[in-house]
Amino acid sequence: MTEHAVVIAGGGPTGLMLAGELALSRVDVAIVERRASQELAGSRAGGLHSRTIEVLDQRGIADRFLAQGQVAQVAQFAMTPLDISDFPTRHNYGLALWQDRIERIFAAWVDELAVPIYRGREVLGFAQDDTGIDVELTDGRPLRAKYLVGCDGGRSLIRKKAGIDFPGWDPSTTYLIAEVEMTGEPAWGIRRDDKGIHGLGKLEGGKRVRVVSTEPHVRQGDEPTVDDLREALIAVYGTDYGVHSVTWLSRFTDTTRQAASYRDRRVLLAGDAAHVHAPAGGQGLNIGVQDAVNLGWKLAQVVKGTSPERVLDTYQTERHPIAARVLKTTMAITALNRGDDRMTALRETMSDLLKMDEPRKRYAAMMSGLDIRYDLGAGHPLLGRRMPDLDLVTESGPRRAFTLLHDARAVLINLGEPDALDIAPWTDRVRRVDARYAGVWELPVLGAVVAPTAVLIRPDGYVAWVGDGTDQGLGDALITWFGPPNHG
Ligand SMILES: Cc1cc2nc3c(=O)[nH]c(=O)nc-3n(C[C@H](O)[C@H](O)[C@H](O)COP(=O)(O)OP(=O)(O)OC[C@H]3O[C@@H](n4cnc5c(N)ncnc54)[C@H](O)[C@@H]3O)c2cc1C
Repeated sequence: MTEHAVVIAGGGPTGLMLAGELALSRVDVAIVERRASQELAGSRAGGLHSRTIEVLDQRGIADRFLAQGQVAQVAQFAMTPLDISDFPTRHNYGLALWQDRIERIFAAWVDELAVPIYRGREVLGFAQDDTGIDVELTDGRPLRAKYLVGCDGGRSLIRKKAGIDFPGWDPSTTYLIAEVEMTGEPAWGIRRDDKGIHGLGKLEGGKRVRVVSTEPHVRQGDEPTVDDLREALIAVYGTDYGVHSVTWLSRFTDTTRQAASYRDRRVLLAGDAAHVHAPAGGQGLNIGVQDAVNLGWKLAQVVKGTSPERVLDTYQTERHPIAARVLKTTMAITALNRGDDRMTALRETMSDLLKMDEPRKRYAAMMSGLDIRYDLGAGHPLLGRRMPDLDLVTESGPRRAFTLLHDARAVLINLGEPDALDIAPWTDRVRRVDARYAGVWELPVLGAVVAPTAVLIRPDGYVAWVGDGTDQGLGDALITWFGPPNHG
């Protein structure tokens, strides 16, 4: 019997990020991954939004991604570009980088953190009891864990076996995506019709073509044929351009569903296992990675016994509304992408609105994930929002705020009198840093906010408590997020 504290089913972007988070918190974690290697058929996600880059920066690994991709203004809403270059973040842009590269970088990081990945085998089922969970694998190896996290994608077996409902909307449109060669000269670029949006893009300088096209009818099944592709091209372009040498062909849909619950006792869901939607707006991979960062430190504390299980409930409370919003947004974009005259008029009206400064800022912050606010109650605008990456001056010299989060530990930044805030009973879980910062505190969309005298930052980079010159509420916040005081 092999035992781990946490077993993650699925080593896609979400599972890899979660494994890294748990390993940083020194939790014994392993991944079970169906694929024999990290190789990915086709291109899938095309990049990262600003908040995801920030989250990676909080762990000191953003540069690995930035070095391989192309920085660009990637945020948009129904094809209206949303520029974030004036946003108060170090990463006021997105990153164009294909998912196979993203996954390889994550896999290398997880490897450095010595997380075992059982590749080329699948989770087949599991049985929960009071003390743990037996996980059944295709190779028959007995595996036991305290928790099992389903990061096994949209068709999640973990979700189904846990009996968790997945309510939502069936597909209204199915799309084919392919990498091919064509004998004829394709009509490059984007085309819109009453079914939706289609595109023919150059690969390898135009020798090969990346096709995205709707199908004339909603079709089910994972394995579309080249004849299906020909039919789809003819329906949209009136010709199949003599398509041949198809190296990748896949179907995706605008199916939109969200798990009714993100947890059933010792089983948790994250990423596509918890929510699926159309790829419009490039959100899925991004929110999956951010699910993992929200869950990782909470699960680590529960596994180690420093926090009661109820902290896991906040994973659903905080992340379910974020995905629900993405579902709504992607449904709106999918509708707007249909090109009949009335929808075109609506899209152009929406586009006019989004060019105005305030709507542009709001939607840009939403699409790039910079506006997230977890409901931690009323108070200072920083409460529940992302900590800005300030240039601080600490006792050990200049430090960026994000650098203080590299080890995925909570930090109390004390900007008032040195030694003012006593958190001795929590120093095994929370680090206190005395620092100075003379600049403006500026948040995306909100602008400048009143400078706090201290901030308690959770390992995921969200602010759990804001000081106003006193320590009022600090003890409660420490107990809520990091467990009871340790007087031993
Ligand atoms: C055409 C297209 C374009 C997209 N573009 C974007 C974009 O631009 N931006 C964006 O953010 N998102 C985009 N997405 C969405 C993105 O690809 C997904 O949201 C992302 O892959 C989800 O990551 P995940 O780790 O949760 O799930 P997955 O990537 O699906 O990973 C699940 C993993 O679990 C493994 N697995 C499954 N079942 C089992 C089992 N029983 N046992 C063991 N292993 C198992 C699988 O092999 C896989 O490796 C796009 C998707 C598509 C289809």
